[in-house]
Amino acid sequence: NIEELFETAEQRRKKEAEARAAAAKSEREKIAVGRSQLPVYPYRDQLLKAVEEHQILIIVAETGAGKTTQVPQYLHEGGYSAAGKIGCTQPRRVAAMSVAARVAYEMGVKLGNEVGYSIRFEDCTSDKTILKYMTDGMLLREFLSEPDLASYSVMMIDEAHERTLHTDVLFGLVKDIARFRPDLKLLISSATLDAEKFSEYFDYAPIFKIPGRRYPVDIYFTKAPEADYIDAAVQAVMRIHVLEPDGDVLVFLTGQEEIEAMEEMLRQRMRGKGTQLAEMIICPIYANLPSELQAKIFEPTPPGARKIVLATNIAETSLTIDGIKYVVDPGFSKQNSYNPRTGMESLVVTPVSKASANQRAGRAGRTSAGKCFRLYTAHSYENEMEDNTVPEIQRTNLGNVVLMLKSLGIHDLMNFDFMDPPPAETLLRALEQLYALGALNDKGELTKLGRRMAEFPLDPLLAKTLLASETYKVSQQIATVCAMVSVGSSIFYRPKDKAVYADNAHRNFARGGVGDHMALLAVYDGWAESGFSTQWCYENYIQVRSMKRARDIRDQLVGLMERVEIEMVGDPTDIDAIKKAIASGFFYHTAQLRKDGSYRTVKHPMTVNLHPSSSLNPPRREGQPIIQALPRWVVYHELVLTSKAFMRTISEIQPQWLVEIAPHYYDRKELLDAEGAGKKVPKGAKARAAMDVAE
Ligand code: ADP
Ligand code: MG
Repeated sequence: NIEELFETAEQRRKKEAEARAAAAKSEREKIAVGRSQLPVYPYRDQLLKAVEEHQILIIVAETGAGKTTQVPQYLHEGGYSAAGKIGCTQPRRVAAMSVAARVAYEMGVKLGNEVGYSIRFEDCTSDKTILKYMTDGMLLREFLSEPDLASYSVMMIDEAHERTLHTDVLFGLVKDIARFRPDLKLLISSATLDAEKFSEYFDYAPIFKIPGRRYPVDIYFTKAPEADYIDAAVQAVMRIHVLEPDGDVLVFLTGQEEIEAMEEMLRQRMRGKGTQLAEMIICPIYANLPSELQAKIFEPTPPGARKIVLATNIAETSLTIDGIKYVVDPGFSKQNSYNPRTGMESLVVTPVSKASANQRAGRAGRTSAGKCFRLYTAHSYENEMEDNTVPEIQRTNLGNVVLMLKSLGIHDLMNFDFMDPPPAETLLRALEQLYALGALNDKGELTKLGRRMAEFPLDPLLAKTLLASETYKVSQQIATVCAMVSVGSSIFYRPKDKAVYADNAHRNFARGGVGDHMALLAVYDGWAESGFSTQWCYENYIQVRSMKRARDIRDQLVGLMERVEIEMVGDPTDIDAIKKAIASGFFYHTAQLRKDGSYRTVKHPMTVNLHPSSSLNPPRREGQPIIQALPRWVVYHELVLTSKAFMRTISEIQPQWLVEIAPHYYDRKELLDAEGAGKKVPKGAKARAAMDVAE
């Protein structure tokens, strides 16, 4: 019977299923082997025992030991998930997403089911979620709806050594609830050895130390300071690629723009070198990188090729990439800086601390001996770098956190149990700012407006802008503007070889000198009108990924606005109303034109400049900007400090609006004086301004 020679369909299906099961089994075995090789693995049972015996435990182990990916799994295996969720905070969004994806993979479940993550504007969890990774900021927000964290059995405050603002505030909150929730287990985990401080703070909680494995790393310094560290980093990478044996390279840069610039430069250097040099695989990693691309940095490097990872300081301790043998460290990171006296807040490219530099170097010696090339001198390391990074709480605006704590019913902020208290001046300034915004009354109590503002996962200035959109009847437009500014600076696409076309396309959105906020609105509305078309984005040199993110954020903001009963209305042509709403939140961020084309901030005089990317930059004549074409008064979204202080995302305003919007903060006379002091303002403009103010 010839049919017997052939498999039946059923037999074939069975065989295929067996093959799949075998493949899955070998995959599972591979994962299990990988997990058992991590430094934390031998301590698994001891760790579970320590957790059982102590309510609060400090865990210290080097980066890559398996704290973040393994410990929550051990706790789950140890039965803790039966009593509630196991939470794990991360200071960075990318880390929360990436680590959750890794753990879901290790557990063989779909991300978002048993293992999920929650970051601002993106909740990838479900009712099934038992291991929840989240940013520290999201846990802080969870306190608003669940002040006792009742749905959790364990909370792990991870990467505690990073001492981000939100982590520091969480310390105080979790320490407090641990007192009245004896069933809640608290883990504080850190990559560095100054764990005594954490222990002391948590009433001398025991420290569980996991010894690391580290290979020696040779450290090289430059002989003289580098004028351009990006250029120097490119050269260093090329030298490694040409001269050094196999092994991947990790370069630390300060942000997306630098990473993109360096990627471009490396590609140019490699062009046409395909046959002479080994393949170079360039992998960028930064906060706004879409998750599909984030996974790329973890893919094993094919034999013969070399991976170059261009990272922000996320790769310092939050993410571990196997196979790194060379580290290139220019020695900088972007940090918040805040001057409580002037209320001036900015992002500054700052030299890293020695502790950071040593963490960075350590990344080269995880799997074998490595090398670290520091693009600064041994002298500056010894004499100019701080020992430790100053905790963020001491160098940032606290408006957000104060609003949150007030909403949690914590009134006495001066006596809040901070590990390192913020400067009293910074706290006072935050209270004052919230008062000026109308979020607090003169007794420091939350107003109805403040309560509504706290509903939004936004900076108080943006939250106020959203609420003011109600008054000016432009809530539709302001929802868009707030979503667009929340996406950050990655909306406009400007490839170097097509910069002229891109600039032309972008100029279209700001026609008539309407300003950057209106341009953002025009981009979004244009895209929406095209039916959210990808083609439209290509044609207009707009990053489609950023736009999709803006749409997600906008949808969520609209949901929250409906919850606080803001009617969604608006007229896109009422530019003044839109700008007034913005100024209602950002009246702190106002500046006045000076004769030389720079600006002076209104309240606490400081020289600031239009960011080169602003659509308000006037045309140039013989290389010089035509100053007459500059707006006299502006409101800006943020300050960026690089070679100078730059205002980014700017709109023109009328000075008399300030009196209307914030009468307790600006008075007519003061603005007139400011106008008088600005004698250098072009004459016609000055006369007009004086009239405006006097109206
Ligand atoms: P720690 O938190 O102690 O620094 P982790 O738990 O983050 O350590 O990392 C443990 C191991 O898991 C590392 O070897 C790392 O390479 C690996 N790992 C973590 N995330 C991923 C990922 N997304 N893809 C592949 N490997 C990962
Ligand atoms: Mg970790």
